[in-house]
Amino acid sequence: MLFAPTPPPAFRSELAAQISPARVQGVPARAARAVPTRAHPLAGRVVGIDPGHNGRNWSDPSFINHLVWNGRQWETCDTTGTATDSGYPEAQFNWQLAGRLRRDLTREGARVVLTRRNNVGVGPCVNTRSQIINRAHANVAIDIHADGGPAWGRGFAILLPVADRQNRRVIRRSYRFARDLRGRFRAVTGMPISNYDGSDGLQPRSDLAGLNLTTVPKVLIECGNMRNTTDVSLLTSRSWRHRAARAMAQAITKYLTGRI
Ligand code: ZN
Repeated sequence: MLFAPTPPPAFRSELAAQISPARVQGVPARAARAVPTRAHPLAGRVVGIDPGHNGRNWSDPSFINHLVWNGRQWETCDTTGTATDSGYPEAQFNWQLAGRLRRDLTREGARVVLTRRNNVGVGPCVNTRSQIINRAHANVAIDIHADGGPAWGRGFAILLPVADRQNRRVIRRSYRFARDLRGRFRAVTGMPISNYDGSDGLQPRSDLAGLNLTTVPKVLIECGNMRNTTDVSLLTSRSWRHRAARAMAQAITKYLTGRI
């Protein structure tokens, strides 16, 4: 976007709240059960969810475009994310899916830590999102996105960390979680594996703060391609998003407990 209005005061104060030290603890989780049961298999577990971007990132380009260190290189604080041709923003998709996933996981007894409070703010930056989940000592975490790929391209891809100083202890577990997620996402949602990103749905990436800086097992999923009309018919469906959340919750439960 070329035109960049100054954000109104309300957004600035929200931004300040998001980057203040108190916010680094993340969104307070609901009280969690401590002991796993058949009904609450994730009791005592912590799950991190990072819904990519934020709904007002477009309003503060100087903040969103400033550079942060991602462990290997400088990267912009965040981006606006992509959108469908009809204007459904990726940030909103990510937020809606994350909310449903939080509900599903909480029902299973997990404590859920989100990296942002709503979809009407700016940021936080990608390095801060990693810090929020690291400091919560999440047992596993997922970054939720949708892609802006070529119009002919279809499907979902799972982006994986590449071993570096900070993430090296969680590479193997991240791959195990990725395989669980790939299997459940394909089976439950009907979204095919990407025909343009990665190999068999998996794509290691060394250029993303969310994966470079993680100290907990984590993957980033591109749930589909917002530039492809067939994928868009799924991504814009509320019932499909519920299936996608269920697939993620099942993969998380399988990863953490060995059972769905
Ligand atoms: Zn994204």
